[in-house]
Amino acid sequence: MSDAGVSTVHAAGGTANLTELKPRTVRQDARARAVRLWNRAAQAVMLLLIGQWSFYGIFRCPFVVPYISCQNCPVVACHGRLFTMFWGVWAGWLALAALFGRAFCGWACPGGTVNRLLGLFAPLRLKPGGLAARLLPFGKYGGLALALWAYFVLGQPRVNVPIRTGEFFGAVALTFEHAMPLWLVRTWAVAGILALGVAVSAAWCRFACPAGGVLEAVRRFAPFSVYKTDACNGCDRCRKACYMATRPEETNCTNCGDCLGSCPQDCIGMGRKPR
Ligand code: SF4
Ligand code: SF4
Ligand code: SF4
Repeated sequence: MSDAGVSTVHAAGGTANLTELKPRTVRQDARARAVRLWNRAAQAVMLLLIGQWSFYGIFRCPFVVPYISCQNCPVVACHGRLFTMFWGVWAGWLALAALFGRAFCGWACPGGTVNRLLGLFAPLRLKPGGLAARLLPFGKYGGLALALWAYFVLGQPRVNVPIRTGEFFGAVALTFEHAMPLWLVRTWAVAGILALGVAVSAAWCRFACPAGGVLEAVRRFAPFSVYKTDACNGCDRCRKACYMATRPEETNCTNCGDCLGSCPQDCIGMGRKPR
C-alpha cells in the first residue's frame, strides 16, 4: 500500500475503513501512473513534431530572438519556416496557456523534455532552497525583458552569413564563426544555462526561459491545473517528487502531474479546482 493509503487509514482511526479506503488508493495510484504515461507519450510526440524547430531556434536561427521571425528566415529547412500555420501555432500556444497555464512546459516543449532528461541522468540533482529558490525564478522575467529589448529596441538583429541547408553541425559551426557578438552572447548563455541542468534541476526552465516567463505570468489565471486542496500541510513530498522543485499551483508548476501520487494527505488533484 502507498504512503497515501497508510496516512488516510491512520486518520480514519481503525481497520474498519481499510477495505473501504484501499480500492480508492489503488485507483489514485493507477491514475497517477496513467497521467505519467500520457505525459511521457505527449512529450515524445511533441519532440518529433517540433523538436527540430526548437533546437534550430537555439543553434541555427540567425535572429537574436528565435521562433518569432520565422516567416522572414533564410533557413528554409527549419520547421518554423515550413509551417504554413505559423501564427496558428502561436495562437494555439496562447490558447493552451489561457486554459492550462504552463502545461506547454510540462507536456509539449522539447526544451523542457531535455531539461528533464538532463536532470534524470545527472549525477547531481541540486534543488536550491531558501532565498535563492525565491529570487532565481524572477530570472525568467529578466530573460523576457532582454528578448523584448533585442526585438523592439535593437530591431531584431540577424546574423549576416549565408545559411546553408543540411549539414546541421557544419552550418552551426559556420554560424558561430561569423556571428555578431550579441548572437554569440545569447547562444552561449542559453547553452550554458541549459547545461547547468546536469547540476541544478531544470535550471533553464526554472530561472531563465523568456517563454517560461510569459507562461508563468498567465499561469495563475488558468482555469485548469494540477492543484492542491486546503488539506495540504506543507510536508513537501510533492516538491521532492517534482523536477521543477515546486508544489502544485506555486511558482514554476508546469501541471505535468508527476506529483499526483506523492501526497500523504491525498490533496493533489488535476482539472478544475473545487471551490
Ligand atoms: S520554460 Fe521554456 S524551455 Fe522550459 S519547458 Fe517552458 S517554454 Fe520550454
Ligand atoms: S500537496 Fe501534499 S505532498 Fe505537497 S506539500 Fe501539501 S501535503 Fe505535502
Ligand atoms: S508541482 Fe507537480 S504538477 Fe507541478 S510541476 Fe511539480 S510535479 Fe509537475
